[in-house]
Amino acid sequence: MKMVILGAGESGVGAAILAQTKGYTVFVSDMGRIKDNYKAMLDEHGIRWEEGQHTASEILDADEVVKSPGIPDTAPMVRSLREQGTPILSEIEFAGRYTKARTICVTGSNGKTTTTSLIYYILEKAGYDVGLAGNIGKSFALQVATADRAWYVIELSSFQLDGMYDFRADIAVLLNITPDHLDRYDYCMQRYVDSKMRIVQNQRPEDYFIYWQGDDYAACELALRLSGEKTPTAVTPIAFADDSPLPVAREALSIPGLHNVRNCLAAYHAARAAGVGEEVIAACLQSFPGVAHRLERVTTKSGVHFVNDSKATNVDACYVALQAMTTPTVLIVGGTDKGNDYSVLLPLIQEKCRALVYLGADNAKLHAAFDDLGLPVADTHAMADCVAACVRLAKAGDTVLLSPCCASFDLFCGMADRGNQFKACVAAL
Ligand code: ADP
Repeated sequence: MKMVILGAGESGVGAAILAQTKGYTVFVSDMGRIKDNYKAMLDEHGIRWEEGQHTASEILDADEVVKSPGIPDTAPMVRSLREQGTPILSEIEFAGRYTKARTICVTGSNGKTTTTSLIYYILEKAGYDVGLAGNIGKSFALQVATADRAWYVIELSSFQLDGMYDFRADIAVLLNITPDHLDRYDYCMQRYVDSKMRIVQNQRPEDYFIYWQGDDYAACELALRLSGEKTPTAVTPIAFADDSPLPVAREALSIPGLHNVRNCLAAYHAARAAGVGEEVIAACLQSFPGVAHRLERVTTKSGVHFVNDSKATNVDACYVALQAMTTPTVLIVGGTDKGNDYSVLLPLIQEKCRALVYLGADNAKLHAAFDDLGLPVADTHAMADCVAACVRLAKAGDTVLLSPCCASFDLFCGMADRGNQFKACVAAL
C-alpha cells in the first residue's frame, strides 16, 4: 500500500511516520520549503520526500493520500487525485484508525486553542494519561506512532474536519460558528457550517456533543442530524448557556471576559463527561494560566497593566477583548488589514478606551476609522515606539491592551513574534 502525504508540516510529518510504522510505502511532497527539523525527522525514518514541487508520477499512484489542512481543494494535484477517486484524508482521520484512545474534540470559529488547552490542563491535573493534539503541540499521528495515550484532547479546524469520514469523537465540543475562512467554502456559509457539524458524525448515544446555546447554528443543525434529515447521529447533547452553573464563581475564573466564561463552561462539561470530579475542575478553572497571546496578562508597571492579545487578528476577537476590560484602556491596533469593518468597535472604544495607539506599516485606514472619536491617538511603526507611546498615554490603574484586529506580517514574522516583541519591550521598561 502506498501512502502519499501532501504537505510536510507538523501533521504531515507525523502522518508519514505513523504510515511508515504501519508498513505503508510512504512518499512526502511539499510545494513549499520543508523546515529543517522536519527533513531530519523524515530522513531519520528513511522516508522519501520532495520540496518545491508535486511530482505527478510519485503522487497519482497512491492508494491513499493524507493532505495537510492548509492545502485547498482547488490545488491542481488535489483536483487530479479527486478526479481519479483516490481517497484523501486528514491526519486526524488516519491516526484515529490506529488508537483505541478516547478523544475529546474541540471545534468552533473562535476559542478552540484556549478551550482545548484548558480541557487538557484539567485532565492532566486529574491524573489522566492524556495527550494534546490537533493544531497545538505534537501531531496526533506522531503521538499515536511513538507514545500512544489513553486520552487525547484534539483541536479541530474546519479544514481538518473536511478530511474526516469514519473518525468518531467520544466527546465533541462546538464553541461557536461565525463567518470565517469563507474563501475556502465558495463564500457559502452553509458549507462552512456543515463542515463544523462533521464533528458529530458517527457519534453514538453514549457519546456527548457539548455546545453553546447562544450560537446561531448549533442547536438547529443538531436537530436536523438527530432526526436523520442530515447525516444522522444519535449523540447525547449537552447545551450550556451564559448563565449555566459552574463550580466556581465567575469572578474567580483565571481567564477574563464573557467569551472565556463560555470556554470555561465548555471545558467544565467536557471534563465532567470524561469523568473528572467537580473539585478538581473547580481548582483548575482558578489556576489555568491561559494561553500565550490570548488576553495574556504580561505584567503591571507603575500601576499600568499590560495585556497581550496578539492573537486577535480580526475585529471580533478585539471586540471580545475590549468587552473583557475592567479599567480604562489604551488600545494598540493595526497591522495587515483583511478588509476590516471597524464600525462595530466604535461604541465599545468610546466606552472603554483612554487612547489609541496605531501600530502598522500604513496607519491611514486607522486614522480614517477612529480619529473622529476625539480620543488621543499616537502613530507608530515599530513595537518599541508603540510601547513608549502607550506609557506616555496611560495613567496608573489603566490597561494597555495589544489586540490589533489585524494580521501582523507588515512588521512582524507572525502573531507570536508580535506578542513576544510586545512582552520584551514591556519587560525593558
Ligand atoms: P482559535 O484557536 O479558535 O483561534 P483562540 O483560543 O486562539 O481561538 O482565541 C483566539 C481569539 O478569539 C482570542 O484572542 C479571543 O479574543 C477570541 N475568543 C476566544 N474564545 C472565544 C469565544 N468563545 N467566543 C468568541 N471569541 C473568542
